[in-house]
Amino acid sequence: MQKLYEGKAKVVYLTQDPDKLILYFKDTATAFDATKKAEVQDKGVVNNTISSLLFELLNMSGIRTHFIQKLSDREMLVWKTERIDVEVVVRNIAAGSICKRLGLEEGKPIDPPLVEFFYKKDELHDPLICKDHILMLGLMKEEEVKHVKSVALKVNEILRKFFLEHRLILVDFKLEFGRKGEEIILIDEISPDTCRLWDAETKEKLDKDRFRFDLGDLMEGYKKVLERIKNE
Ligand code: UDP
Repeated sequence: MQKLYEGKAKVVYLTQDPDKLILYFKDTATAFDATKKAEVQDKGVVNNTISSLLFELLNMSGIRTHFIQKLSDREMLVWKTERIDVEVVVRNIAAGSICKRLGLEEGKPIDPPLVEFFYKKDELHDPLICKDHILMLGLMKEEEVKHVKSVALKVNEILRKFFLEHRLILVDFKLEFGRKGEEIILIDEISPDTCRLWDAETKEKLDKDRFRFDLGDLMEGYKKVLERIKNE
């Protein structure tokens, strides 16, 4: 297969069909602008499984996503889109960068949920931007920003409820979007690499913060998430 692009956690391959791509999930874990890096056995397998399951849930709930089907342990078939260089973060509870930025204590509830935009640009370290920056940079039009924000909040409601049913708290997560013709759809992955997930009872962190801050075995957390959400 011809490689189109290789990122930190995934490889993107072209397929026979010009409208479709294959995402291959690697075992590489990175944090802090990839200054921290490690190979974590089976992370790609677990993240592909979790992402596929969550995208299926979102597709069934009427959210337009790039997900077509899971092809193998590490591969997902998706619609080809033109990536929009904006990361959309939704927060239900304060954690991570917002605590540092605004001096909030970790664990403080954020109600109503907050939507933030970050400019996806490695050399600038993905700065926080607002709607007017997005318009000024020509990344999206005003109505598109509104649409993306409303989709992000809908995704939050669907995923928050789903995770809670499995005794997991969705603290925050990052989404990416792409253009498919006139439409803007959800792309990339949704996994413990891109979400903060806490055990509802013990508040144990089961996401990438385990890797960021050496809180314990990464895969133990990710596998716990998968075990709970799969056909439980
Ligand atoms: N996130 C991500 N990719 C990024 C930045 C953030 O998936 O490049 C996710 C992160 O895992 C968390 C949420 O987005 O679930 C909010 O991240 P935050 O802004 O707190 O940054 P962090 O402190 O995680 O770097």
